[in-house]
Amino acid sequence: MKNMINIARKRCLSKNIDELEEVYDYAKVIQIKNTNTWIDKYGSTKISFGPYLISNLIKKWNQKGTKYIICLSPLVRRYLGIEKAKIRFIGKYSRNIKWILSIGGAREHNSAKEYLFSTDKSCSTKLVTAPAPLSNDSFGTNLSSPCFGNVIVPSRQSAYPAQILIDSSILEDMREEFNISGVGEVMGLYYSLKDYFAVRKLSPTRDLLLKIERSVQNLAIKLKTKDAIWLKLLAIALIEKCLFMRIISDNQIIAGGDHLIAYAIDYCSMNREYEHFSKLSHGEKVYWGSIVMAALFPEWEYGFFSLKKLIAFGFEIGIIEHKTYGLLEKCLKNGLIELAIKMRPNRLTILSSISQRRIQKSCDEIYECINAT
Ligand SMILES: [Zn+2]
Repeated sequence: MKNMINIARKRCLSKNIDELEEVYDYAKVIQIKNTNTWIDKYGSTKISFGPYLISNLIKKWNQKGTKYIICLSPLVRRYLGIEKAKIRFIGKYSRNIKWILSIGGAREHNSAKEYLFSTDKSCSTKLVTAPAPLSNDSFGTNLSSPCFGNVIVPSRQSAYPAQILIDSSILEDMREEFNISGVGEVMGLYYSLKDYFAVRKLSPTRDLLLKIERSVQNLAIKLKTKDAIWLKLLAIALIEKCLFMRIISDNQIIAGGDHLIAYAIDYCSMNREYEHFSKLSHGEKVYWGSIVMAALFPEWEYGFFSLKKLIAFGFEIGIIEHKTYGLLEKCLKNGLIELAIKMRPNRLTILSSISQRRIQKSCDEIYECINAT
C-alpha cells in the first residue's frame, strides 16, 4: 500500500497541479461570453450556452447536407418534434457520419461514446453532447461503459466531446428535481479532491479550495433565491469538474470517497431491504456520499462544506429525505464503508484508513444533525 501511495504521489506531483486553478479563469469567461473553447492534449471542446442551440445546429446540418446521427432521450423528444420516434438513434448507421449528437443523460452520452468505438476511424466522427437534464457530469467526460444493467462494468476512455451545448430552452422547461440532482455531483468534487490529495499525502492549494467553495456557494445562493442563472452556474460547475479530470488525466480526481459511497449505495439497492435506493439518482447518491465524507472527516470542514450546512441545504432543495437516511444509517452500521472500498479496489482512497470508531461516531453526528434540522 505504501509503495502504491508513493507511485501515485510521484505521478500526481509530476502533473501540473496549478493548472487546476486555470479552470476557474476559463469558467469566468463562459459566464460572461456564453461561449468558450477549451484546448488541451485531448483536442478542443467548444462550450456554448443559450436558447435553441440544438435545433439551430440540426437546422444548419440539414441545410449543408452534413451526415449526422442523434442519440436521443425519450424525455426530450417532444422538444425536437419527433415525439413518436421509437428508436434511440435517429439517423442511419452509415459511413462518413460527421457528427454524433447525444441529447439526454448518462445513458445517451454513453451510447454515443460507445458508438464512436465502432465508427470508421478514417471518417473521424465527432461528438456533440447536450445535457438534458443537468443531472450528472457524463456529458463532459470521455468515459463510457460497454453495457448497462446491474453488472459492474469498468468504464473505458472514448472521446471528449468536440462541442457541448447547454440549451436553456430545454433545460428551463424540465422538471426542477431532474436538474437539482446535478447539485450532488457538484458537492462531491470537494470531497473527491480532498480524498485524492490526502491519500497521496499532498494537499490542494488554499486558492483552489477557495475557488471551489465560492463556486458552490454562489450556485447555492442562486438556487435558493430561484434566480434562473442557477442552471447556467450548475452547468459550469459540472464542466469545471470534468476539466479537472482532463487536466490530471485521471477520473479518480473527481470520483473519490463520495462516489465510492454512492456506488456502494447503488450496490445495496439490489438487496430487497434497500430497494428504495434504486429510486435515487446518481446525483442524490453522491450527495449522500458527500454527507458521509463530511461526517467522517470533520477536519475538512471549510465554508459551505460542513455536515450541518450540507444537510440543511440538502433538505431545503429536496435532494435528501428522511426515509433514505433511515436506511443509510443501517447500511453504514453494516459495513457500507468496507463495501465502498471494494467497489473500485484499484482506486486509492483515504476511506481505507478509517476506523470503526470513526464510522460509528459519524453515524451519530449525521443522526444528530438530521434531527436538529
Ligand atoms: Zn458522478
